[in-house]
Amino acid sequence: MCRHAAWLGAPRTLASLIHEPEYGLLTQSYAPRLQRYGTVNADGYGMGWYGPGQDEPVRYRRTVPVWGDANLPGLARAARSHCLLAAVRSATVGMPIEETATAPFADGRWLLSHNGRVDRDAVRDLADDLPGGAESPCDSAWLAAGVFARRRAGLPLGEALAEVVVHAGAKDPGARLNLLACDGTSLAATAWGDTLFFHDSLHGSPPGDAREDLLHRAEDPGGGVLVASEPLDGRPGWRAVPERSLLLVSAGEVRLRPL
Ligand code: GLN
Repeated sequence: MCRHAAWLGAPRTLASLIHEPEYGLLTQSYAPRLQRYGTVNADGYGMGWYGPGQDEPVRYRRTVPVWGDANLPGLARAARSHCLLAAVRSATVGMPIEETATAPFADGRWLLSHNGRVDRDAVRDLADDLPGGAESPCDSAWLAAGVFARRRAGLPLGEALAEVVVHAGAKDPGARLNLLACDGTSLAATAWGDTLFFHDSLHGSPPGDAREDLLHRAEDPGGGVLVASEPLDGRPGWRAVPERSLLLVSAGEVRLRPL
């Protein structure tokens, strides 16, 4: 099972998801604490972020372990955004190890990562939903294709994730379907078969009207929501997302609902 993490809030660097926290994705790649399937995440990594004034994200994916890319620490310190997503991969048996099979998958403004597995025969229709098909024969890319097809049809981020997860879960009861997606202004994630946590330092602390302002203020060091397969650090305030639920994060609120 791979591990993934995302941030929405005051601008910060990708290093804040990968290298800086005690249990960031770098540590989670070789010593995850809560991983239920697989032991290391060494089959590649990927990340995406939204540059200033850019609608579509920048994406960077490699098939080397996250600890094996000497260029990454500098890049991750420089790549800075109010919306970030990164993942380290433990490939499911039979899935190709190549960049196109590595999260995040992308379509327009949307980025998506998947922790888990699904029987591709059960969800062939999802890959076919997207004109041009999935980016890769990897099961995760097929789920991404189903989500992206729904995005193009106008479904909101959370609804697209929910529909694909419930559909795939019905077709393959053994599937594990933790999806994490963002579009630059919101995050959505599902817990379905593996762990998922979030840490909210945005909502509740500033008075209501200040929230939007906080999200867009350039140099605020705090103010945001982290979503991750497992907590990135030992701070209090990490909350587990209940199994079979959908987490929705925007500037205005964090919402949880059952799937
Ligand atoms: N099935 C996906 C892959 O092969 C995700 C694997 C995982 O979560 N370990 O990449």
